[in-house]
Amino acid sequence: MTRLLLIGPPGAGKGTQAARLAEIYGVPAISTGDIFRSNVKNGTELGTKAKAFMDAGDNVPDSLTNALIRDRLEEDDAKNGFLLDGYPRTTDQVRELDEFLASHGSALDVVVELEADTEVVVGRLRKRALEQGRSDDTEEVVRHRLEVYSEQTAPLIKTYAGRDVLVTIDALGEVDAVTARITEALFDRGISATDAGSR
Ligand code: ADP
Repeated sequence: MTRLLLIGPPGAGKGTQAARLAEIYGVPAISTGDIFRSNVKNGTELGTKAKAFMDAGDNVPDSLTNALIRDRLEEDDAKNGFLLDGYPRTTDQVRELDEFLASHGSALDVVVELEADTEVVVGRLRKRALEQGRSDDTEEVVRHRLEVYSEQTAPLIKTYAGRDVLVTIDALGEVDAVTARITEALFDRGISATDAGSR
């Protein structure tokens, strides 16, 4: 049973690594950004509420995000572990996740911080904007997302460091190399790949 969390600025490669780690450790990758985007695409009520915040590069209000994640973590596939990508992003979301886990008698195993400097992430997001055309990847919105990250999310890293669950990984370089750094750091913390993942 593995409960992981990925934290890092936009463009650090959380989504890319999350997909790989989910396979390696045999847990579902749960990305609040992806869930919001699919709600926007499908025109749900949640999507309609979230869209303006996302397009502006602001966090979707905690009330919506917390309700969404609570429902998602209650699903069967998350009972034996999960990898959260993009949640928690605020102090309130940390509190919510703590309460959820405590009420289920569990806790996070490791929080993986993906570290990448601003110039690199801006460059990566510029490239992604050309490739994928995500509505929040424009230059101006990217700059705002980075500000929101440093104001609201970066402080959470200290919180987790204080609980001794944090590992910090250099997110620069090849995707495979970053994955290898993460799996090594997790191995050192007693977390190994599942048979399903290493096959
Ligand atoms: P990135 O981390 O690259 O900015 P995400 O896909 O994680 O991209 O998030 C895209 C947008 O979705 C965010 O800018 C925000 O509007 C919304 N979002 C995602 N996760 C959360 C969250 N935990 N709390 C609030 N808003 C969120």
